[in-house]
Amino acid sequence: MAATATWERTDAGYTGVEPTADWAREVRRLADERDAVLLAHNYQLPEIQDVAHHTGDSLALSRIAANSSASTIVFCGVHFMAETAKILGPEKTVLIPDARAGCSLADSITADELRAWKAEHPGAVVVSYVNTTAEVKAETDICCTSSNAVDVVRSIPADRDVLFCPDQFLGAHVKRETGRENLHIWAGECHVHAGINGPELADRAAANPDADLFIHPECGCATSALYLAGEGIVAKERVKILSTGDMLTAAKETGARSVLVATEVGMLHQLRRAAPEIDFRAVNDRASCRYMKMITPAALLRCLREGADEVHVPADVADRARASVERMIAIGKPGGGE
Ligand code: SF4
Repeated sequence: MAATATWERTDAGYTGVEPTADWAREVRRLADERDAVLLAHNYQLPEIQDVAHHTGDSLALSRIAANSSASTIVFCGVHFMAETAKILGPEKTVLIPDARAGCSLADSITADELRAWKAEHPGAVVVSYVNTTAEVKAETDICCTSSNAVDVVRSIPADRDVLFCPDQFLGAHVKRETGRENLHIWAGECHVHAGINGPELADRAAANPDADLFIHPECGCATSALYLAGEGIVAKERVKILSTGDMLTAAKETGARSVLVATEVGMLHQLRRAAPEIDFRAVNDRASCRYMKMITPAALLRCLREGADEVHVPADVADRARASVERMIAIGKPGGGE
C-alpha cells in the first residue's frame, strides 16, 4: 500500500481506504512497528475483525489487553471499552481508531446523575453494567457483565437496596431471576438493542420453527422471548439468553441447523466463522451500531500511522473504577458482557 494513502474525515467516520490485501499487510506491519496488539470487538466490521490479532467481547478483550506483552493496545471497539483496557493496564498506551465512537447505553447515565441517584438511596449498593464510562465505574460498587449480573446481585445481602444501571432490559432480566423487590433500575437503553422488538421476534420464530433463538439480554425482546417460552409458543429449550461470548460457545454446542440471533449484526460474522454448518440469521437486519462501524479501514490505518486517538483516564478515577471491575471479576462467571 502506498505510504501516501490518505483518508477523509466525515461525521460518520474516516473514509477513503479500501480493505484490500495490501491494506491488511500495511496494518499488520505498522502494528509490529508500534509494538501494538490489535483487538477487535465482535460487532466490528468483518474486515476489522479479520485483520485483528484477537476478536472477542469487551471484557475478554480487556483481559487480553492487560496480559499482553505489547506496549500499545489498539482497541477496535467503542470508547468505554478502550477506557476499560486503560483502567486494567494503566502503564500501556491505549489507542482507539476514532474517539468519536461512543455508546448510547454508556451515555444514558453520567457520573453526576449516578451521584444524585445514590443521594436519594443512602446505603444502597451500586451495580453497573460494563457499558459505562470510567467516571461512572468510579462511582460503582460492583460492575457486572450480562453473564454474571444475576450472581453479582445475589452476592449482595438481601436487605440492602441495589441501584442497577444503566440498562433497563438487563435490569428487568436480573429482577425477574432474583425476584428482588429492592432492586431499582435506571431507565437507560442501547438504541440498537432496543430496536429488536418482541413482535418481530415472534414473527421470525414462527416462520423458522426449527431454529434456536440466541438473545442478548440487553435486547428489548429478551422479556418477550422469555414470555413466548413461558407460554409454550416457543419451546423453552430453543430460547437461549446469552452474552456475545457465550453465543460463540453455544454455537459450537447446539444441535440446531439454524439459529436466529438477536443482537448487533456484526456478531453474525464470528458465529458463522465458529460454526459454518449452521444457518445464522439476524432477528433484525437493521440492528447495526453506527458507533461500532466508525472503526473503518481508513480509521485503523490513520490510528497506526499517527498514533491517534489516545485514550486517557485520570489516575484517581482509574483506581476507583478498577476496584469495581475487579469485584466483578471475582464474582461468579464474568463472561464477556456485550
Ligand atoms: S450496540 Fe448499543 S450498547 Fe453496544 S456499543 Fe453500540 S450503542 Fe453501545
